[in-house]
Amino acid sequence: MGEGRDLVRAPFPIAAWQELAQEASRCTRCRLAEGRTNVVFGTGNAGTKLMFVGEGPGEQEDLQGLPFVGRSGQLLDRLVLEEMGLTRDDFYITNTVKCRPPGNRDPLPEEIDTCWPFLEKQLGLMSPRVVVTLGNFATKLLLGTTEGISRLRGRVYPYRDGHLVPTFHPSAALRGGGQVVAQMRADLVRAKEALRGVRAR
Ligand code: URA
Repeated sequence: MGEGRDLVRAPFPIAAWQELAQEASRCTRCRLAEGRTNVVFGTGNAGTKLMFVGEGPGEQEDLQGLPFVGRSGQLLDRLVLEEMGLTRDDFYITNTVKCRPPGNRDPLPEEIDTCWPFLEKQLGLMSPRVVVTLGNFATKLLLGTTEGISRLRGRVYPYRDGHLVPTFHPSAALRGGGQVVAQMRADLVRAKEALRGVRAR
């Protein structure tokens, strides 16, 4: 575990969480169910105050049933460790849609809407004090806006009982290089500071 030990929240409603994961594992509410290998519910430590939300599972995630296990996940893990001092034991990470869109296409609005009750319940049960949204889909969904990530990132928003910090999706950083990585780093520092504020409260 990294520096996040004191972010652990107790008691955590584990039975309700497991029930929700079970429900998701059987979900056939949208056509993404037809092509999936695994439902990717999320991973990490749901008993903490920090949640990351990405877009949707890719090929590796679908095969392994875990989010962010490919190249973009590896970059994200490195940046989170370097800027926040945290590892996956210190936060929870999930996606706006829990099943892989075919050929890694963008999730459709109706797929995001259909899957939203799972993320909404995850947010409710976990009650994170800081949510970091990765890229356009998660940011627009949670902030309820059509504004793009380049305009939204760079600041901290009030969200539920805590804060939301939008940043680029790590795949944009893989494509965009140094400047995007530098902006992601700055956003992760914002998230770390938001968590500190929470701890001081
Ligand atoms: N990209 C995402 O948005 N989520 C994943 O789980 C993997 C890649």
